[in-house]
Amino acid sequence: MPKIVDGVYFIPGQDEMIPDSHTYVLGNLASKDLSLIDPGLNGKAKYKMESIKKMGIELKDIRRVIMTHTHFDHIGSLSEIREKIPEAELWIHILEAAPIESGDERTVYGMEMFQQMCQMQYGMKPGAFTFRVDRKLEGGETIEIGGMNWEVIHIPGHSMGSIALYYKPKKILIPGDVVYADYAIGRFDLHGADGRELKKSLLRLAELEVEILLPGHNRIVTKVSSDYILQTARQWEPYLG
Ligand SMILES: [Zn+2]
Ligand SMILES: [Zn+2]
Repeated sequence: MPKIVDGVYFIPGQDEMIPDSHTYVLGNLASKDLSLIDPGLNGKAKYKMESIKKMGIELKDIRRVIMTHTHFDHIGSLSEIREKIPEAELWIHILEAAPIESGDERTVYGMEMFQQMCQMQYGMKPGAFTFRVDRKLEGGETIEIGGMNWEVIHIPGHSMGSIALYYKPKKILIPGDVVYADYAIGRFDLHGADGRELKKSLLRLAELEVEILLPGHNRIVTKVSSDYILQTARQWEPYLG
């Protein structure tokens, strides 16, 4: 599991027919107060848990799972992770926490066709993504986790409860699926998505100083140019309404 900087660790997703989200582990290891960001696709918890253990991290030191958002490729393996780390809390933005608690899976699957495919491909049962959420994030709060202060920013558009985590001291941004490397952005045609909101969210992120971009998929970027997110927003503006 590569270290990005002290307190920020990266487990690359292993895409299959469906992409598997990257997983990040945050927190100073000595704090034993670590957070796992986005478990990933159904069936992908095992190798991710192995790479965490290879780092010398005890699974019980993972105190919480924080979701950038609750799409299937990010939350699919949550129940596998919770089997291994039953004490870990679950933190989700309030707009996606409510559906997760009530068993409304429209955001998880994004569209009906995809839900049917997952049911066929993975035998997913209706209700498989009903969880109690321990902390409902709103955006605007600073969360002190593992000896680090991360800012939570609500960035709807790709999904209604998408959040970014931002670590100012090292200018690190974890934006989920809102913005990727290579001027790519997340899709905005799924349940709860909204192009205009996505545009606003990109412009909000463009205000941040970002040197290290750790998105949900594809390349991570460790030397982000200063106007990268703004340029990305500008390129996509005509399509975002
Ligand atoms: Zn997504
Ligand atoms: Zn994704």
